[in-house]
Amino acid sequence: MKTTRGILLTVCLLTLAGLSLPAFGATPIRVVAAIPDFAAIAEAIGGGDVNAESIIVGNRDVHAVELLPSFFMRIRKAQVYIKVGMDLDLWSQQLIDGSRNARLVVVDVSSRITPLEVPTFKVDRSYGDLHRFGNPHYWLDPAATRPMVEAILAGLLAVAPDKAGAFRANAEAYIAAFEAKSARWRERLAPHKGARLVSFHRSWPYFGRHFELEFVGELEPKPGVPPTPTHIAAMQELLRSGTVAAILMESYFDDRVPQMLARTTGVPLVKVPVLVGAEPAATTREAMFELIVEGLANALQRGGSMAP
Ligand SMILES: [Zn+2]
Repeated sequence: MKTTRGILLTVCLLTLAGLSLPAFGATPIRVVAAIPDFAAIAEAIGGGDVNAESIIVGNRDVHAVELLPSFFMRIRKAQVYIKVGMDLDLWSQQLIDGSRNARLVVVDVSSRITPLEVPTFKVDRSYGDLHRFGNPHYWLDPAATRPMVEAILAGLLAVAPDKAGAFRANAEAYIAAFEAKSARWRERLAPHKGARLVSFHRSWPYFGRHFELEFVGELEPKPGVPPTPTHIAAMQELLRSGTVAAILMESYFDDRVPQMLARTTGVPLVKVPVLVGAEPAATTREAMFELIVEGLANALQRGGSMAP
């Protein structure tokens, strides 16, 4: 009897709680995203009707994730999973398979993206372990916002078709606000069109295309392979040639080699977050791009003023 009363009480309380919410009696859609950037988009689309969390939290390498038992539990209870795709997050597939959630709607955001750098040759292990299906770092392309939002919107509507009106309106408002900021970033970097940059990892082809910046080398000899002495020496020579304006490094890497190269060559080093939440100030996608664009623009301006 006690149990029944407990259940009844819970039901009553839930009903009361439901009545006090603007969305009548609705529980938020449970979303798990591979990266925080997609969780942020899902929550922007959902307003208060989506509760999104991400597998990666903080300043982490997106290619390698240690799978914790709690991740499987979270996905077992989720309604939508949002993956990066293009084999960047092979761990996502392991999580999806292992969570045995037959009703889970899986969104592969990369399915809406036209990939860059798809290998035209047969890829073997000598190519490095990553980027075998093209470059997967498309979320660093401000212009990919619309396709990313549309992919995530479709996933949310698959579980909540009744929310189509509100979710579509939220999605359009999010895109419009983002594009307004994006136009300012383009203006900010416009004086530096054609600047040649070196990065740590090959994260930037989409970003480079958007802002018309040329990425001419990476400190990793191959994606996922740490810098070797021979490769570091070659990069040092390239940086000393005077043709590279800055080193743009993803903040999740160890910065000892890039610091040494900046010190010995005089080329400025810019360390930036490549995920929402990777730095305390990168609270949203907009804030993250602001940090990347401002950091880069400031370094390029300094470099420009030093030129003869
Ligand atoms: Zn990568």
